[in-house]
Amino acid sequence: MNHHASHHDLSTPLISAIERHLSEDCQVILFLNRRGFAPVLLCTKCGVVEECDRCDARLTLHPSIGHLRCHHCGRTRPLSWACGICGSERIAVGAGTQRVTDELRVLFPKARIARLDRDIASRKGSIEAVLAEVEHGDTQILVGTQMLVKGHDFPRVTLVGVLSADQGLFGTNFRSSERLAQILLQVAGRAGRRDRPGEVLIQSYYPEHPLLARLAAQDYDAFGKLALEERKVAAWPPFSHLIVWRAEAGRREPAYNLLERIATAARRIASNITILGPASPSMEKRGGRYRAQLLFQSAHRSPLHDLIRELLPLVRVWPEARRVRWSIDVDPSEL
Ligand SMILES: [Zn+2]
Ligand SMILES: [Zn+2]
Repeated sequence: MNHHASHHDLSTPLISAIERHLSEDCQVILFLNRRGFAPVLLCTKCGVVEECDRCDARLTLHPSIGHLRCHHCGRTRPLSWACGICGSERIAVGAGTQRVTDELRVLFPKARIARLDRDIASRKGSIEAVLAEVEHGDTQILVGTQMLVKGHDFPRVTLVGVLSADQGLFGTNFRSSERLAQILLQVAGRAGRRDRPGEVLIQSYYPEHPLLARLAAQDYDAFGKLALEERKVAAWPPFSHLIVWRAEAGRREPAYNLLERIATAARRIASNITILGPASPSMEKRGGRYRAQLLFQSAHRSPLHDLIRELLPLVRVWPEARRVRWSIDVDPSEL
């Protein structure tokens, strides 16, 4: 993406590849993990970005229904192109499935193009209808989110485009790159048929990234080895075991105070366990609630479980534990 021009996240090499595969009467799948029209509504004068007032998140543009929508709590707000602060005109930055689909209709006016994401899927029977049209060959280009990755067999798809691999490379979760690898392998498995090998184009601003380079070379073993080395250095699973104690409340303090007290009690009970936090997850505020978490890390499983077993009866009778919603997550997949 650094070396080629692009139209709303479609690079020129990807556009010519689409052209080539369509001209050979084949089908194309484009994968983009971002629904809506654009993820950011930006004022070019004062630089303010429209955000959700209940979450630490930006509102996504859905101009077709005249709304801005939060993809985390579902709140909507009427779309206005005038900045609420300075009154200047605002612009849509970035591209979601809707904008990419619109752009493809301009670039390939004769092609039959369909979109599959959660907005489409919320209409009853629509997933089946979209997929049936792809299977029968009526659809030539399908644009979709992660929903596309699993389970469907499209015999005439020979080109798969992944519009951005970068979120997975620099995710906040230590499992981000593992997820990226799974998605890339799964979408790559969508391309190709008996008489014609498939082609997969992955767009990135960091093509030299060692993990991505190994995936692009289809060297899963090399990817796995490198990912494991990174985990080992950071002492993440499988080189350690984790338990997360989560808390959330309408204000920040009660959640933090509870976890603070749990951490103090835990340190008194167990000396051989690493305790990190309390800290905020990558999105601290969601749906109007503040979230915090305490991480317990150990090379062995049993000391962790012993600790939780001792902590639980203590915590349950604390008055502050009744005012906060809390949960314990063993082997968390998200942090
Ligand atoms: Zn929200
Ligand atoms: Zn403004």
